[in-house]
Amino acid sequence: MERYGRITEKRKREIVLLRGKGCAYGKCAFCDYYLDKCCDEWENFDLNSRVLARVTGEFSDLEIINSGSVFELDIATLDLIKRICRDKNISVIHFESHYLYREKIYQLRREFDAFDLKLKLGLETFDYDLRENYLNKGIKERDARRIAEVFDEANFLFGIRGQTLDSMRKDIELGLKLFERICINVMCENSSSVKPDRRVIDDFINYIYPNYVDDGRVDILINNTDFGVGE
Ligand code: SF4
Repeated sequence: MERYGRITEKRKREIVLLRGKGCAYGKCAFCDYYLDKCCDEWENFDLNSRVLARVTGEFSDLEIINSGSVFELDIATLDLIKRICRDKNISVIHFESHYLYREKIYQLRREFDAFDLKLKLGLETFDYDLRENYLNKGIKERDARRIAEVFDEANFLFGIRGQTLDSMRKDIELGLKLFERICINVMCENSSSVKPDRRVIDDFINYIYPNYVDDGRVDILINNTDFGVGE
């Protein structure tokens, strides 16, 4: 599994895929990557140290993902992230978090107050019914502004049954209003029960993608390894 990558388009940054104790939520119907976990903190730290050693700081910007939320990384790894970012003059750090940790984000920002922290929410869609009754995302909030309140960025998932051109456009437009940046992930076949819907994906590629392919605030992952990490 590749755990280090460089994103050289739009917002240039390095990206690392670290390993934590596992996603505390673990119920999203479309996800199978939460299997990348280990309950031994020292084994995780050992692996994470080797991945973080590859960070150069060339873009002063580092994205950290861990098949779950930043709050599932061990303390030694978090300290090492701080140290490396300080040493390599990295000023911006992106972390991911599930909505259930929203009240811990303020404290995390305080702990990383020397850096510009960007918290990315796994939102998938603003459509409550699709998100909660089909994707089982675990965000029991209907108000888009309240959902976005403590987050800077968000992930969206496109290419699943029930989505339309209209619903995808609405997600993007509202996402760009409420977040600094968004990332669109096109659903890929995996071992979960949610399957990619070819018709929805074709609609996205033909009618929406051309409008956002050059938008610096929108990352688009047609394959889930497009950032250069994962398998
Ligand atoms: S999508 Fe994220 S929050 Fe949901 S189960 Fe997978 S790792 Fe956990």
